[in-house]
Amino acid sequence: MKKPMRRIVIAIDGPAASGKSTTAREVARRLGLVYLDTGAMYRAVTFKALREGIDLKDGDGVAEMTRRTHLELQWVNNEQHVLLDGEDVSLAIRTPEVTAGTTPVSGHPQVREILVGWLRRMGATGGVVAEGRDTTSVVFPDADVKIFLSADIEARAGRRMKDLESVGVATSPNEQSELLSRRDHADSSRQASPLVKVPDAIEINTSHITIEQQVQRVVDLAREVAEA
Ligand code: C5P
Repeated sequence: MKKPMRRIVIAIDGPAASGKSTTAREVARRLGLVYLDTGAMYRAVTFKALREGIDLKDGDGVAEMTRRTHLELQWVNNEQHVLLDGEDVSLAIRTPEVTAGTTPVSGHPQVREILVGWLRRMGATGGVVAEGRDTTSVVFPDADVKIFLSADIEARAGRRMKDLESVGVATSPNEQSELLSRRDHADSSRQASPLVKVPDAIEINTSHITIEQQVQRVVDLAREVAEA
């Protein structure tokens, strides 16, 4: 049965720098839905743990800290703001140190359980475009549209390099390929909610298509399942 567009759930998973956030943000804007950047939540938790000097490998310690954390995703002038206990950490969570720290943090099932609970509540009434690693498999297994975005490593390393350069971090394609390969491996091989392509997800390879094409493909799929 078809649903009103304002109630549908679109879930997009894929490896780092495959185009998930660009696609999800623009699809949400065009369809009037809320964008849920689930990676930003793992990043914010990692940032707080680093700041508090909590051992990132200590799952119970990070989970205990997460329980006394208030996270909010806000939209101001078409820009996402991540509020950690009321403080805007949108830029601070994008540093290489935080990125590296998300690997141990996101591997703890007790931390994931808390974040999955929050995310499900945010999407409970629908109207969301969620993106991450487990949004199609664990967070929203009944999503109306499930997408697996992929792209070859060269395309992804080039994109990541541009993103970092825009915030003043100098890097090279080789360094980014190496870091992305390591993170892909960790995300796909971990025990707790690894990155997988679920059987009912539609794969879109973004290596050689434009952002407009990838956005339009998801918008078309959403229009097929939503009421006209
Ligand atoms: O998407 P982004 O690169 O911001 O995510 C940062 C990290 O957070 C990922 O490498 C992954 O380890 C973790 N993550 C996750 N599950 C999600 C979203 C992100 O484990 N749903």
